[in-house]
Amino acid sequence: MVFHPSKHSLTQHAAPSSGEERVFQGVAVAPGIAEGMVMIHFQEEENIPFRDLQPEELDAEAARFEGALLATRTELLGLQERLSQSATASDAGIFDAHLLVLEDPSLIDEVLNGIRREKHNAEFVFQGVSHKFIKTLSAIDDPYLRERAIDLEDVTRRVIRHLLGKSGQRLAGHDRSHIIVADELTPSDTATLNRENVAGFITEKGSKTSHTAIMARSLGIPAVVGLEGICNLLESGCVVLMDGYSGKVFLNPSPSTRAAYQVLAEQKEHVEERLESLRETDSVTTDGRRITLAANIELPEELDEVSASGADGIGLYRTEFLYFNRTVPPDEEEQYAVYRQVAERVAPRGAIIRTLDIGGDKPTECLDLGHEENPFLGCRAIRFCLNNPEIFKTQLRAILRAGLHGNLKMMFPMISGHEELLHAKALLNEAAEELRAKGMPFQNDMELGLMIEVPSSAIMADMLAREVSFFSIGTNDLLQYLMAVDRGNERIAHLHDPANPAVVRILKMVVDAAHAAGIWVGICGELAGDIEFTPLLVGLGIDELSTSASLVPRVKKAIRSLDLTACREVVTHALSGEPAAEIYARTTGLARTRYPDLF
Ligand code: PEP
Ligand code: MG
Repeated sequence: MVFHPSKHSLTQHAAPSSGEERVFQGVAVAPGIAEGMVMIHFQEEENIPFRDLQPEELDAEAARFEGALLATRTELLGLQERLSQSATASDAGIFDAHLLVLEDPSLIDEVLNGIRREKHNAEFVFQGVSHKFIKTLSAIDDPYLRERAIDLEDVTRRVIRHLLGKSGQRLAGHDRSHIIVADELTPSDTATLNRENVAGFITEKGSKTSHTAIMARSLGIPAVVGLEGICNLLESGCVVLMDGYSGKVFLNPSPSTRAAYQVLAEQKEHVEERLESLRETDSVTTDGRRITLAANIELPEELDEVSASGADGIGLYRTEFLYFNRTVPPDEEEQYAVYRQVAERVAPRGAIIRTLDIGGDKPTECLDLGHEENPFLGCRAIRFCLNNPEIFKTQLRAILRAGLHGNLKMMFPMISGHEELLHAKALLNEAAEELRAKGMPFQNDMELGLMIEVPSSAIMADMLAREVSFFSIGTNDLLQYLMAVDRGNERIAHLHDPANPAVVRILKMVVDAAHAAGIWVGICGELAGDIEFTPLLVGLGIDELSTSASLVPRVKKAIRSLDLTACREVVTHALSGEPAAEIYARTTGLARTRYPDLF
């Protein structure tokens, strides 16, 4: 188990509780303890405000609705324009149907008349009218009309976002400190959380390696997921105490529960203080094996925490977060400025910029990914980039230019084989040529790596190693694809098990292939921050571990408490046919003996 104390102390968020205490057990995904008032977060459409209007307000309300239609039109035209320049040009046509919805006189007149007749706010009236149209269209047994219902649903969401002033931002609404309770949060929702106001979050869906959980750890916000039905069991305004270490959520915590958690929070605080003293020390085992310990970031705002954590630079920058909560993707200049800032602020240490990994559980409004039945097996990450070379090369040019301002490396996500890698490298060469042709300075010998996340690339690791300078193993996805287990599905989360002997074998294969080719290999998936598995990873010969900045100090303490000989023994047993339970017992047994205070 991994932990760090919440930045939100118990006393800061304590609110009077009433009623009987009830305890719910979820899955702990981001450590910390928080108590506070619950805000249930519904999907945007369910959160539509309702207002009665005075007769003198009606003209302005009608104009506000027309303004939102216009803003949506501009937004759609922009999306269409961008799509028409990319390889998905044929998809640009879908927005024609959306634009037609915005001009539909029967819909618009009914809303305008409704505002005047009912004297209610535009979003409320519009949602009602639009739902009526959608229901009628969906009920007709005609595939064309059912498609139109989907178009209308999409456009309705966009118009409502404009009416709510939420285009490009979400979840920023409440200014009181609170605990968010939701069915599900997307990574882009999580990216907009205001750390000052959000003491924690609890969701019905999700797992330890879902991007929402990863984001919570990065932001230092305690989180519990997998609590099915919790949205109906709690209501906005009630008080809960949540334990991001054990996954327990207490409704109406009793005085004795609160007192016990007060003590626990203080203990965690003390451990954290002791870890701070390791900041300037090396991550080296007692018998001299040095392991680079880096931090993962999603947003440049996390850079201060990276330097405070004592990390050896950034091992994974998830650049797709730059593309969230906006309708237009970042252009080359914007990306260059951000990557340059990362390079300069992390110097003299280095940063590995991971190219766009969109799709899967990370959709974004500003790029059209199209509908897919199985997004995790679909056109995500490098596949999307290879299909959209202009979007990809824009990013590659920005990274190459920013490389002049520090020590940057680049890596490609989700490579599944040799041809894909060569294709991506060819586009990288094209991007460099384009800069050269324009006389733009850039770093032309940037180290290139690839993420091992698909089992086929692990199997072919010896061949792939000849093409790159390093491997970074994305265990979140590698385990997902190896075990055929959706990383975000709480019902099968037990199968996403790093102690599975097949996982140990595949990791060993990759490490051996990398070392035989003379390149280094790291892990940047969540496993890197799980101190129960540090003995196994050290024993496997991993050269770099990269994890959330908040977990760096405890991984450092773990490495400094271990010796290579004992760690190698764990691996020898694991490769000899031990079942998962024994592999787990062995690695965690060593961990608990060597650094018991971290558990
Ligand atoms: C991984 O898959 O382990 C990884 C680091 O990438 P992401 O979590 O962003 O998919
Ligand atoms: Mg991944």
